[in-house]
Amino acid sequence: MTMEQTKPPLTLYLAAPRGFCAGVDRAIKIVELALQKWGAPVYVRHEIVHNKYVVDSLREQGAVFVEELDECPDDRPVIFSAHGVPKSVPATAKQREMVFVDATCPLVSKVHMEAARHHAEGLQLVMIGHAGHPEVLGTMGQLPEGEVILVETVGDVADLTPRDPGRLAFITQTTLSVDDTAQIVAALQARFPGIIGPAREDICYATTNRQAAVKAIAPKIDALLVIGAQNSSNSKRLVEVGRASGCAYSQLVLRADQIDWRAIDGVRHVGVTAGASAPEVLIDEVIDAFRARYDVAVEIVETAQENIEFKVPRVLRETA
Ligand code: SF4
Repeated sequence: MTMEQTKPPLTLYLAAPRGFCAGVDRAIKIVELALQKWGAPVYVRHEIVHNKYVVDSLREQGAVFVEELDECPDDRPVIFSAHGVPKSVPATAKQREMVFVDATCPLVSKVHMEAARHHAEGLQLVMIGHAGHPEVLGTMGQLPEGEVILVETVGDVADLTPRDPGRLAFITQTTLSVDDTAQIVAALQARFPGIIGPAREDICYATTNRQAAVKAIAPKIDALLVIGAQNSSNSKRLVEVGRASGCAYSQLVLRADQIDWRAIDGVRHVGVTAGASAPEVLIDEVIDAFRARYDVAVEIVETAQENIEFKVPRVLRETA
């Protein structure tokens, strides 16, 4: 009997869509094009996208990652990450006459514009999101302090003390759990019937689609692996969606070497997906790791097709 025949059978259910979204794709392209146009080093404020593999490979090409603008010299270009930045950041860069390129995802910029529009109409904003996440800091930083109140849970809604309960609008982080957010929106609408907001929320197509694919896979599997980083909001939400949809063993792994093989010993149906900032090469690596141990059959579970592409900023189009 060959080694191949002794491997136990296992079916991998691959979620589709999974992995890179249009905003992440664009942000990475922006750093690569900036390196091509201006040469190294190019500074990047915050991890361009939340994935160590991506960040390390850009670092090797000459990108320097910093947390704040004051760590960048005046005479080198700086890129702002896909999560968006508070208004004060580009304002300071302008003051310092720096070359800067904003890689904020257009779907995050859309929320910034929504916030500005509501503020111009005299409304106070409620933002549904996770405290401390760079997207939340960036979006809240579009308006003066006190104009955006953050809520993270349904429980927070009861504690809100807005300036005028009749003059409120809400916005959301783009990478939240669709189901949890629906509950918070419902609580806001119950407490403040006049609150204005988007038709449902501001969760982006990529987050919504990846969560829907996990829900479709969950009934078929005994274990779910989400390839993504600990600081990636949309990846963490996929783990939660997996658990909430009935797959108790749902784990976040950065790459194949983090798979806990003992924990999934005996399991024959495994789901695999990836957060919006995880490249396909890491998914291939995970599939290969399974193939080394099991006789693997791969089944794609497709719940949506994505053809969205965002243009890079004008300043880099010629280089592209
Ligand atoms: S997850 Fe959504 S909002 Fe974030 S970069 Fe991707 S498309 Fe844009």
